[in-house]
Amino acid sequence: MTAQIIDGKRIAQGIRQYTKDKVNKLLRVPKLVVIQVGENPASTVYIRNKIRACNEVGITSYELRLPQTCSEANLLEAIRSLNEDPTVDGILVQLPLPSHIQSGPILEAIHPEKDVDGFHIYNTGKLVTTGGGFKPCTPAGIIELLNAIGYSLEGKHAVILGRSNIVGKPLAMLMLQENATVTMTHSHTPNLSYYTKQADVLVAAIGRAKFVKADMVKKGAIVIDVGTNRDENGKLCGDVDTDAVKEVASWITPVPGGVGPMTIAMLLHNTLLSAQKRQGIL
Ligand code: NAP
Repeated sequence: MTAQIIDGKRIAQGIRQYTKDKVNKLLRVPKLVVIQVGENPASTVYIRNKIRACNEVGITSYELRLPQTCSEANLLEAIRSLNEDPTVDGILVQLPLPSHIQSGPILEAIHPEKDVDGFHIYNTGKLVTTGGGFKPCTPAGIIELLNAIGYSLEGKHAVILGRSNIVGKPLAMLMLQENATVTMTHSHTPNLSYYTKQADVLVAAIGRAKFVKADMVKKGAIVIDVGTNRDENGKLCGDVDTDAVKEVASWITPVPGGVGPMTIAMLLHNTLLSAQKRQGIL
């Protein structure tokens, strides 16, 4: 068996086109502000990609660059002023922050209705309880990938490697909402293969290059690779040993071109949702 590829780039393009069409119908152009503190080169690239994507769908985006030496108080003040600005629909603070600034209070300072990354504790609470808040972009994108291949999680066993606040934990909540049985694993889980081999859907989000091998995967499983790593030759790769695992899986996401494009597409979609709510359309 050779797995079919889940083409995240194509699926993301569909969401971007949908977003663009909806943005065109709004009374006021939506605006996203991305805050970068310092000059982490990876963050600079991520922000550039987000801003380019905004431009393509007609969302106004603006990057607020603060120096590495910026204090927590200054950053909080910048967020407060954006919270009060009626023309701003989405505020995103690019992580990681410099070590002298704690991310928790910063993320909680963003108004929950402008929290298009879905990281505010209010939106996290909504995710765990009633739903309806902003969903974090990467997990929401994974659910869209499964929808796009017509796969229902109802009654299926999903196994997630990694329990971060931005991927593993929120994804578990979204999958529970879809009536999957979810197993979460992490670096303290003994005998990881025991769990991974039971998965109908296996999601790897640990940040370890090519960690998931073919003998860890059940025949016919769907494998979602969130990882963004460099292999021994410096080439971009995921957490899954794709060449080997695709001989066992039924569907698999590539890296690049799988989950990554979905994360940006869902950010655009969340910004659209914010603008629609603020313009009384939703
Ligand atoms: P993170 O915050 O570093 O968390 C990693 C998680 O993996 C932790 O829960 C950790 O366990 C677990 N883990 C690490 N090594 C493990 C092992 N050997 N066995 C089992 N579990 C292990 O990572 P993250 O932010 O979720 O990101 C994970 C990966 O996804 C990274 O490569 C990141 O770059 C990528 N990513 C990609 C996108 C995208 O859009 N494509 C978005 C977000 C993240 P403990 O909790 O026990 O430490």
